[in-house]
Amino acid sequence: MSETGYDHAAVERRWQAAWDDEDAYRTPDDVDDPTYVLGMYPYPSGKLHMGHVRNYTITDAYARYRRMTGDEVLHPMGWDAFGLPAENAAKERDTNPRDWTFDCIDTMRDQMESMGFGYDWDREIATCTPEYYKWNQWLFSRFHEEDLVERRDAEVNWCPECETVLADEQVEGDDELCWRCDTPVETRELEQWFLKITEYADELLEDIDDLEGWPNSVRQMQRNWIGRQYGTELEFTLDGYGSVEAFTTRVDTIFGATFFALAPDHPISEELAEEDDDVWQFIEHEADPDGDEPNGVETGLTATNPVTGEEIPVYVADFVLSDVGTGALMAVPGHDDRDHAFAEKMGVDIEPVIAPTPDDWDGETVPDAPDVSEAAFTDDGVLVNSGEYSGLDSETARERLTEDIESAEEATQYQLRDWGISRQRYWGTPIPVVHCDDCGAVTVPDEELPVELPEFINTTKNPLEAAEEWKQTTCPECGGEATRETDTMDTFVDSSWYFLRYISPDRENVPFDLEQANDWMPVDQYVGGIEHAVMHLLYSRFFTKVLADNEGLEHREPFTNLLAQGMVQLEGEKMSKSKGNVVSPQRIVEEYGADTARLFMMQAAQPERDFDWSEEGVRSTYAFLTRLREMVEEYTANEPDGDDDAVASYVASEIDATVAIATEEYDELTFNRALRETQDLVRTLRQYADSTEPHADTYERGLSAVVRLLAPVAPHLAEELHDALGNDGFVVDAEWPTADVDYDYVAKRRQLVENTREDVRQIIDVAGIDDPKAIDVVIAPDWKYDALEIAIESDAPNLIGELMGESHIREQGDAAASYGQDLQAEREALSMTLDPDDEHDALESAAWLIEREFDAPVSVVRADAVDDSVLKNAEPGRPAIEIDD
Ligand SMILES: [Zn+2]
Ligand SMILES: [Zn+2]
Repeated sequence: MSETGYDHAAVERRWQAAWDDEDAYRTPDDVDDPTYVLGMYPYPSGKLHMGHVRNYTITDAYARYRRMTGDEVLHPMGWDAFGLPAENAAKERDTNPRDWTFDCIDTMRDQMESMGFGYDWDREIATCTPEYYKWNQWLFSRFHEEDLVERRDAEVNWCPECETVLADEQVEGDDELCWRCDTPVETRELEQWFLKITEYADELLEDIDDLEGWPNSVRQMQRNWIGRQYGTELEFTLDGYGSVEAFTTRVDTIFGATFFALAPDHPISEELAEEDDDVWQFIEHEADPDGDEPNGVETGLTATNPVTGEEIPVYVADFVLSDVGTGALMAVPGHDDRDHAFAEKMGVDIEPVIAPTPDDWDGETVPDAPDVSEAAFTDDGVLVNSGEYSGLDSETARERLTEDIESAEEATQYQLRDWGISRQRYWGTPIPVVHCDDCGAVTVPDEELPVELPEFINTTKNPLEAAEEWKQTTCPECGGEATRETDTMDTFVDSSWYFLRYISPDRENVPFDLEQANDWMPVDQYVGGIEHAVMHLLYSRFFTKVLADNEGLEHREPFTNLLAQGMVQLEGEKMSKSKGNVVSPQRIVEEYGADTARLFMMQAAQPERDFDWSEEGVRSTYAFLTRLREMVEEYTANEPDGDDDAVASYVASEIDATVAIATEEYDELTFNRALRETQDLVRTLRQYADSTEPHADTYERGLSAVVRLLAPVAPHLAEELHDALGNDGFVVDAEWPTADVDYDYVAKRRQLVENTREDVRQIIDVAGIDDPKAIDVVIAPDWKYDALEIAIESDAPNLIGELMGESHIREQGDAAASYGQDLQAEREALSMTLDPDDEHDALESAAWLIEREFDAPVSVVRADAVDDSVLKNAEPGRPAIEIDD
């Protein structure tokens, strides 16, 4: 405990125990459509880091807020418990992944409880339990029945020394060495299981438009990932090999095709490799599809352009992907950046065939060809050097050429590929398949699920390969001898539907209760890291759609609103163990308490933004909570007895304004703004209590509003203070404060008070007044308000003329002309202020703040009570200030 703070440890322990005793966060099964608030479940690494704390404070604060507004809320937590790190840790520590994982889960659950997160722990899930992964297997079978599962060859990393498949994370460095024995890793073709997500490519793409509660950045990343392109499929003739199909989105550039390129694993490339050492060498050792620059090897073959009849060289190139499009393409270096880079490197011709459309183009003339020697021109334009097609615009040319070329057809292509789920690892869901010599790959019948993992064997190979007894089984179809599939599932399968399991985590005969899922889904607010923008968030959408098509789920999207939280940084850098710049949440909780950690994070920045951890910020947050506690203690120890005067009415209106504005911000999850409002109100209340004897009801209403506005973010201290103020029950069950305010009025009133205080400060400063005796605040005359309104509404070029058209303004003579000129000069920036009576009342009720600041009596004076010389400086929204020293 800090010497100047409060005993946060005692407060937090007390309320955590009280919540626990009362099952405060349990969501009964019989509630109707609760607000479902969910943070992406963590991998149980054994330590909660700041990123977790931020993520889960956001969901916790929102869940608590919605609950206080009267919603039923579902806010569960679980564990993404399968994965390679547990397997590695078990090997290093000579234990097994299961024990290691459950130890980590216990530690992290304790840490979460110490943060005060209000989870319904009765719904906790861990994906590594047979009760959970049984349903991964069941879902695999359903996908299989719907023809959404396929087994085919795919490349894997292979260590020839260890004779094992390696995960990408087990291949180290640029030299791609085995993590265990430093042998260079090779690739191998192995039969792998795929989920056919490409069957849903169109729907996954088109429904992104409806995800209005998602950040645009994530929606765009998904669109790019799916990467639908409309184009043309057409054939080129390769000497000795006949017709080869190629895909292009730019058939309008076909006259500029100067080479033809095949993917390294295109059947023709593989055939060539058997005879040509250079091609073999390239395919086996040099091709690097993930590299920064395109590489390739000449084959000596030529391809015939179906339009020009021209023969162009054929390359095997690593930027052509066999599983995208046809694995073959016509390359146009003049109009494609990557083709340009390749042509420069390999010395292939670069020809311009599209010119930028001239501004004054008549739709027919053929413009001059552009210079494309340095860089490709990649936009649409007008065709040049293209025979009879020269002079057409790109779009027309594409239509015409697709019609004219005999082999050409319109075609659609996607970047999205089927999802390979096979992992050659132990700590995952066994794929429920057995291999029989007679029947082939047979799925395990539902009644035999789950296929449970055998005991862990510490071996360099896949432990499932080594589990000889486990592997031996009988074929469900013919009853003969068979062996089990030894691949396990990608852990992204687990996370593609876990949000459904929380709804009915104990159901033994179904993965989720359908009726309840139809009522409770979709997740109303999902929160997690932007790194999941594509895979997890796309796979979850895919699973949801498959379940909607085949299992009666009545929702086609899992997450209505998504928030991708920003990073917690230290001195502008991401916190990481390797950089040694990690701030431990545990230390912060011990030193300052969970409430301080949570409040600091939520007020530091909007949830989507990155922000810097600041120890000073943490200390001042702690000091704020400590002072608030003192205020409540002082109030309850000694109830004040002040009048319900103008000051009280100012404080009352600030309470209403704060409640209304903070509520709007909570709705938008902009906690930082809600908390700034709340802290401003605390300051106002403190000034109130310092400057006078407060009106008890008003002051208590203020304290009570503050406590409830802080409760979602600093729940322990809020419970303590709620209790101290004499309330029964938990603050988490208290009603959210409400207030009706005119937001526009509030904004103008606050601006007026702020401007006035600032003006007084400036005059005192400039005039060097040490000890002001009295301050007059003089409201502008009514005609100036009329003039301002006319100036705002008028679009006449001569504003002064228009103003002088009003007799009551013209009567003011020079003063009117002078004010008219001011208005004319600032015309663009003018905005309406309060009317003179409202300004008078607002300043009257705020006068105490000025009196307090400058220690002098303040009078708010109407225009008709002073001379014209004083009024000269008074404007709407900016009263004149007269100081008597
Ligand atoms: Zn190795
Ligand atoms: Zn069989």
